[in-house]
Amino acid sequence: MGKVTITINGSRLSGRDGMTILNLAQENNIPIPTLCHHPLLTPTGACRICLVEDENSGQLIASCVTPITPGMAIKTDSPRVLEARRAFVELMLAEHPDSCLVCDKGNRCELRKLASELEVSQVRFKRLRRFYPLDDTNPFIERDLTKCIMCGRCIRACHEIQGVTAIDYAYRGFDIKPATPQDRGLIDSACVSCGLCVSMCPVGALSDKSTRYWSKETSKVQTICPYCGCGCSLYLSTRDQKIIGVSSCPENSVNGISLCVKGRYGFDFVHHQDRLKTPLIKRAGEFTPATWDEALDLVASKLSSYKADELAVISSAKCTNEENYIAQKFARAILSTNNVDHCARLCHAPTVAGLVQSFGSGAMTNSMAEIGDASCILAIGTNTTEAHPIIALEIKRAVDKGAKLIVANPREIDLVRWSHLWLQQQPGSDVALLMGMAKVIVDEGLVDKAFIDERCENLDAFKKSLEGFDLDFVERTTGVPKDKIAEAARVYATDRPSSILYAMGITQHSHGTDNVIATANLAMLTGNIGKPSTGVNPLRGQNNVQGACDMGALPNVYPGYQAIADDNIRAKFEQAWCCSLNPTPGLPITEMINAAYRGEIKAIYLIGENPLLSEPDITHAKEALEKLEFLVVQDIFLSETAELADVVLPGTSFAEKDGTFTNTERRVQRVRKAIEPIGDSKPDWQITCQLGRGMGGKGFDFEHPSQIMDEIASLTPSYGGISYQRLEDGGLQWPCPTPEHPGTPILHSQQFTRGKGRFIPLEYKPPMELPDKEYPLILTTGRSLYHFHTGTLTRKVEGLNVLKKEGEVEINPRDASKLGIADGEMVKVISRRGEVVARAKLTEVSPVGVVFMTFHFAESPANLLTNPALDPVAKIPEYKVCAVRVEKNHK
Ligand code: SF4
Ligand code: SF4
Ligand code: SF4
Repeated sequence: MGKVTITINGSRLSGRDGMTILNLAQENNIPIPTLCHHPLLTPTGACRICLVEDENSGQLIASCVTPITPGMAIKTDSPRVLEARRAFVELMLAEHPDSCLVCDKGNRCELRKLASELEVSQVRFKRLRRFYPLDDTNPFIERDLTKCIMCGRCIRACHEIQGVTAIDYAYRGFDIKPATPQDRGLIDSACVSCGLCVSMCPVGALSDKSTRYWSKETSKVQTICPYCGCGCSLYLSTRDQKIIGVSSCPENSVNGISLCVKGRYGFDFVHHQDRLKTPLIKRAGEFTPATWDEALDLVASKLSSYKADELAVISSAKCTNEENYIAQKFARAILSTNNVDHCARLCHAPTVAGLVQSFGSGAMTNSMAEIGDASCILAIGTNTTEAHPIIALEIKRAVDKGAKLIVANPREIDLVRWSHLWLQQQPGSDVALLMGMAKVIVDEGLVDKAFIDERCENLDAFKKSLEGFDLDFVERTTGVPKDKIAEAARVYATDRPSSILYAMGITQHSHGTDNVIATANLAMLTGNIGKPSTGVNPLRGQNNVQGACDMGALPNVYPGYQAIADDNIRAKFEQAWCCSLNPTPGLPITEMINAAYRGEIKAIYLIGENPLLSEPDITHAKEALEKLEFLVVQDIFLSETAELADVVLPGTSFAEKDGTFTNTERRVQRVRKAIEPIGDSKPDWQITCQLGRGMGGKGFDFEHPSQIMDEIASLTPSYGGISYQRLEDGGLQWPCPTPEHPGTPILHSQQFTRGKGRFIPLEYKPPMELPDKEYPLILTTGRSLYHFHTGTLTRKVEGLNVLKKEGEVEINPRDASKLGIADGEMVKVISRRGEVVARAKLTEVSPVGVVFMTFHFAESPANLLTNPALDPVAKIPEYKVCAVRVEKNHK
């Protein structure tokens, strides 16, 4: 980029070609006020506040849109400039209501601040008044467009960053304003309630309903969102021990200025009246409040009365790393059992099982910020916009920059609108699709031979297995035309760097491990691994599911995936924990439930999970848990599962404790306490430590989670360089083996964790349950943007319930018409395992023959229907495909 020298206020300054006058002035700390400008948005020069004087031409020009040119001489504060700025502010004030004293924007109003800085003491222009009725249709956002100054920031933010286009300019002349299509309420538009426009509005025209009294906040704490695996940073604003608002931390690298609706507005659950505030003991079938000593003594004496293999611990992907570490240490060191697992079994166990075989480690290979720079993105089995909204923004950023997006999904999800190619495969046919693409790449000589020769092994055996995937077979199996498959293969192989993103549409199958391996084969074949904006990128579901895995809340590994069956590793932990450890791998959750059903597991200590909504075939799971002799549940609400417990221990929410979460890109980040625990609740690490001490354990006497992290670092090579002190400056991506190591944004860059990347031959296996005469439709399940997991938290947020109030059955209009079902009608969905009543939503998003439900709603629990058939390697159930029939609900 060429150097350009100009003069500003008499000083010679150099900038780069393409910079604007405003950019150069800001870079040199020369103040120029702005209103419509925002560094992340396309400049428009609409408000004219950034006017400067061009001394050569004598003209006043908008500095935000005028590029620097050699020889330019600029004055930023001449009398003409100041007078013009004053005049523009007065024009805005002439149209602005005099409601400053009662405006929620308070002293954060940029217009008021500007008027004061420019010493505007009167408005010389005729007062013009327009009035728009308040739009408070959205549960979180209020629009009072009478106060709008038409800066356009909200519109550009919605279009350019959020990619939603819910609002645009409407009307002409004096009546122009930002409006939804047909000028209806925000609730009736495509708005996804992300609140970005509100955070961008310089005046009080857009405001958060929840943060009315923001100006009175007494503390602001930076922490991490408790919902999905993106791991967005946010500030919690508090007053009188109450969270009164959430805002983004623009300086962080994960989400910048953006948050999704759950992160920005989904925090009411913290103060919900149903929070558990004291331990409960079930006596004669009724819960009665108990003291901590009573409850923990009972739990300790009960758990002590069982043999190791009769016990199990279910840990939580919602809890911090430190809490998961303590939970698995408690299971292993105190209960002597490796029966410890968590919900990763139900979402990404195949990722770990598959990528370990191919690469040697099972985690996202690249970083979120790299996605925006990819030339091709293959998004398979991920409804990213709903499940990982911030990653979806990166995908849209890449497409805006010219990347080709290939979406492989049976449903016409939002990303299809952005795609170059949509491969609408039959649910469960992903191995055929990915192997078909691999065959085209091999047959057409599009492989990266140099990469394979140097970095990979077992290509010949893999090539042989491709013989079973000629494109006619693949087309018949997947339902995707073969020329589309070939085009996708060519784009993926040649438009480099290419990145694969996947989520549970790949993993939740009885052949989920094969699906994951198929993505790894494709990446190695084309050399799209170990480099920026490439890789195989599993998008993890819950806020700390990556961390719970890293911490060894798994039946076969200690923290850092160190095998319990390895004598040397076990000896290391025995020495550190001062105990003798059980060398036999334990049971995964899915098998714990079966063992409980058979009476082999007799007692479970369950932390922050709700298997009565998340397990497949819930009826079976409920019967299994009812057969337990002792169940202790630690949670923040009395969940469906907690109702079955003998003892309930009240834990705290993310806002009430310190710790760390590890997001989907392996970034370990600090969770910070913003308020004191509600009632008599305690952070989960404290509860488990107290229990451990009560059962005679050593090594449970921590005073702060930072000490737990020090122990983790001392025993876990990939976390070896991580400490709270280092995390103060932002997150660190593992592996981070030493205190000097900067962290690892890209895995496998020099060599694979296992040495050579291994091609693994595959064969096609159909789903375990396919439609037939009795059950002619396929049910597939997934997530909604507005709720999370089993709804334990989001269903306690009133506004989220307004935006999505119930579970629906999405069905194609052609299927509905054959069944005589109308939109909005209550229907029964019936599988071999049970039946669920829910409202039908007729939509082309679901293809003919496929119905879709979310699993967030206890009133219509989709997992009553799903198939518990397991992937033989990863033991994950086949949530994504089961056979059902849909009937009118005659009741
Ligand atoms: S809340 Fe988000 S989606 Fe809705 S109008 Fe504002 S920026 Fe657009
Ligand atoms: S609503 Fe706010 S952000 Fe949008 S144009 Fe008006 S003043 Fe600007
Ligand atoms: S994208 Fe995920 S982590 Fe980010 S704000 Fe939304 S729910 Fe929270």
